[in-house]
Amino acid sequence: MTLEEYKRKRDFQQTPEPAPKVEKGKQRRFVVQKHRASHLHYDFRLEMEGVLKSWAIPKGPSLDPADKRLAMQVEDHPVAYFDFEGIIPPGNYGAGTVMVWDVGTWEPLGDASAMLRKGDLKFRLDGQKIKGEFALVHIKSHRPDSKGTEWLLIKHRDANVQQGYDIDRFDYSALTGRSLKEIAGDAGSAEWESSRKASFRGVSRKNEWLAESIAQADAKRARAEKEGQAGKRISGRTAELSAKKPAGRAAAKLAASRSGKGDHAGSLPRKSAKASPVKKNSASAKRA
Ligand code: MN
Repeated sequence: MTLEEYKRKRDFQQTPEPAPKVEKGKQRRFVVQKHRASHLHYDFRLEMEGVLKSWAIPKGPSLDPADKRLAMQVEDHPVAYFDFEGIIPPGNYGAGTVMVWDVGTWEPLGDASAMLRKGDLKFRLDGQKIKGEFALVHIKSHRPDSKGTEWLLIKHRDANVQQGYDIDRFDYSALTGRSLKEIAGDAGSAEWESSRKASFRGVSRKNEWLAESIAQADAKRARAEKEGQAGKRISGRTAELSAKKPAGRAAAKLAASRSGKGDHAGSLPRKSAKASPVKKNSASAKRA
């Protein structure tokens, strides 16, 4: 049954993530969440059939048709996950920091449920960052440990194509303008705490949040550009990651939970491992 796996993997006394609840509605929204768990990845979610159909994409979506992004289908998430941004505490499934990287609406180019079952889902996205036509295609992987959950996210050729698309240039929340570091509560986050309390909580279902958060994102981006922070963030990531590793009891708890419940980021292939259809596109990874 849908959301059973979502429920089974989580203890809702311990995680701030929303409870499992099917919400049938007419909306077709999508969200891309940037998730720094055991491995940094992006979670791509489409609202359909009362849940968010979900894929974990190690490199994130791209506007370049040459980038065929590996997308591992993961358990359905509740619709309320749409605007979840924050910290999943150590010891919980997917422990780490979650940013709402992009939000918007999607439009299937055909019968959505039939395309999903067939493993060939074509759609148009209208987000703040990601726009245009895409296909999500179920593939047969030749990896020995394949669970049959591999898909590819491919940009179609249209007016929204950006060759050489670099996702790292867009490290800010579509809701709050914060970087992943700021959401994690690292240095420099304090000034965003108050605006988060004022605007992020409570009003997120109204339309005002979009206008307000876009304004915040714009201000944030302008400031980041001025200070030239983008480069520093990327080079600082390794140190930051090791610094964030939980120590002592928390680490033991985390390890125990991982062995019992796993972490979908942990099941993602390492950078060197590729599903075979991706191989011929490895050149795209070298592009600056
Ligand atoms: Mn994730």
